[in-house]
Amino acid sequence: MELWFTEQHTKNVRFSMKVDRQLYSAQSEFQRIDIFDSLEFGRVLTLDGYVMLTEKDEFIYHEMIVHVPMCAHPDARKILVIGGGDGGTVRELVRYAAVERIDLVEIDEQVVAACKEYLPQTAGKLNDPRVHAFYEDGLKFIRHQENEYDLILVDSTDPFGPGEGLFTREFYGNCFRALKADGIMVNQHESPFYKEDAYAMQRAHKRIVESFPLARVYQAHIPTYPSGHWLFGFASKQYHPVHNVDFSRWEKLGLRTQYYNTKLHAAAFALPTYVEEMLRDVE
Ligand code: SAM
Repeated sequence: MELWFTEQHTKNVRFSMKVDRQLYSAQSEFQRIDIFDSLEFGRVLTLDGYVMLTEKDEFIYHEMIVHVPMCAHPDARKILVIGGGDGGTVRELVRYAAVERIDLVEIDEQVVAACKEYLPQTAGKLNDPRVHAFYEDGLKFIRHQENEYDLILVDSTDPFGPGEGLFTREFYGNCFRALKADGIMVNQHESPFYKEDAYAMQRAHKRIVESFPLARVYQAHIPTYPSGHWLFGFASKQYHPVHNVDFSRWEKLGLRTQYYNTKLHAAAFALPTYVEEMLRDVE
């Protein structure tokens, strides 16, 4: 008997992976949470049937959402992670000795509990003493923050369901206010490839451009996300993501990574022409 997990990437495209066994399944107040063992990608977390992470390729996403801004910002100490209940973003952040506090604002405590039990690879550092978890809506939490954070990392689901509010003009404007004078916001920025994802990406980019003086986009290859071509938004009050970045400062930290490196950091902001045109159309 063969068991397969299939995600609908568009109405005409499906992505399937062979399942060894289901480990966890629950309907939380916010979403359907599933964790299963796959033969190719190891353990997989899905929310409402969408792949959030797999053991085999999560390092790409979590290294790129963390090390790009941590290299571009010369002295990030207080960081806000919105979403990120699987713990992978926090795991990469706690590797920096200079980081003093990480506020994790995750709407669904059940995601954290399930990942702590079944995905220690990503959730294993959520108990770091510098991590302070708030189980609430990031859209509401951010309304009460001003001049607080060096970095805000929006590690959210897609722009529907509980994650919808994290792609709004109000949210980005409140992130701007919550950041310090030289703060940086990085967000999960969807994909340029399939029409619906591209539309969501352009809509988010327009709203970020309207909220920040500097807004750039960088890319990574994430095999288990729709099309594999995934984007991150880099919005900044002061620092450019590449110009005048002291890459040697990051290299001297001696952090071992599997995907991120300082050459790839700079190159990730060199986008395909069709993506540049999509961004220009909404800037
Ligand atoms: N890397 C994944 C991706 O790119 O899709 C996201 C990983 S993480 C599991 C996404 C998290 O965002 C989920 O745990 C979900 O519960 C959380 N989330 C969704 N909407 C939220 C909101 N409004 N406030 C806080 N957390 C939210």
